[in-house]
Amino acid sequence: MKKVLRRCVYCKKVGSKDEFLRIVRLKNGNILFDNEYKYFGRSVYICKNKNCINNAFSKKKIEKGLKVTNIPQDLKENLKNKLIENIEEVINEKI
Ligand SMILES: [Zn+2]
Repeated sequence: MKKVLRRCVYCKKVGSKDEFLRIVRLKNGNILFDNEYKYFGRSVYICKNKNCINNAFSKKKIEKGLKVTNIPQDLKENLKNKLIENIEEVINEKI
């Protein structure tokens, strides 16, 4: 089976899907954090670190990657918090 590589929307690092967090835009326009690859749609990948998460959001990389002109600020905050919570859980599991 061919290994599918993903690329971080901010730093452009390439790797396998478990190295990244995924945000997906569904056909109906909903944008959500989908780390379990449950949904189909245009998606962006972000490294599991705060630097990439913060820059991906502040530099509008998410909008570009999902090909939308604007994401409401509260939705962005919500997504960003979920991503950060997710990486903090990973860090805690390692300790
Ligand atoms: Zn990155």
